[in-house]
Amino acid sequence: MGRGRSRVRVKSVITFWERATALPCFGEQEGRHLVLGGHPMLMVGTDLVEVERSLGCGELACPGCGGVLGPWGHARSRSCRGVEGPVRHRPRRARCGSCGRTHVLLAQVWLLRRADAAAVIGAALEARATGAGHRPIAAALGRPVSTVRGWLRRFSTLAQDVRVFFTRLLYALDPAAAALVPRAGVVGDAVEAIGRAAGAGVLRLGPAPPWEFAARASAGGLLAPLAGRSGRGVVSNTS
Ligand SMILES: [Zn+2]
Repeated sequence: MGRGRSRVRVKSVITFWERATALPCFGEQEGRHLVLGGHPMLMVGTDLVEVERSLGCGELACPGCGGVLGPWGHARSRSCRGVEGPVRHRPRRARCGSCGRTHVLLAQVWLLRRADAAAVIGAALEARATGAGHRPIAAALGRPVSTVRGWLRRFSTLAQDVRVFFTRLLYALDPAAAALVPRAGVVGDAVEAIGRAAGAGVLRLGPAPPWEFAARASAGGLLAPLAGRSGRGVVSNTS
């Protein structure tokens, strides 16, 4: 029956997603093993009910050992800035039944150590890719100039790794994808690769806004500090 096949297909797509997002070429990080505030991070979707259901049903795997994660309270509350304005959220926490480690479940709306939503930071990166400077971008987004300058500087140092990572992800998702069109500069190339991979992700994995796709695929590490890219990728707590 179609139902059984579709269940198998969904499982294989989820497995594929896990493999695709574990591509080891994004800088030196092993994205799914990043640690935030002493707790390994696991990126999850934005549907809280679905996350809760997955957690309750034992469908989430420990990023450390692959064991089954179960509910384990919440991380501390955070003040963040979404596309629509300030947001306060409190990520779920899970504990592995095998290794006993706890993990913070970070929704793909956010990036590690950044108070602004991935979509906001992504809009800045898109503007940069078209040649805009940090001041007009900051004015357009209503964010401090220094904050936007920090995003752009960080991204430009990582852009080559990001381009390679998302180009590989694009062809992993769609082996028949047309060649990427070179843009002006490595930041433009990286943003182009993210957009194309996100488009392929929609077709292969289901709908997701492009910068949420990028956040999830990079395990929240699109702008992760260099300190989080060595060894096991331990980073300090978020602000
Ligand atoms: Zn574990």
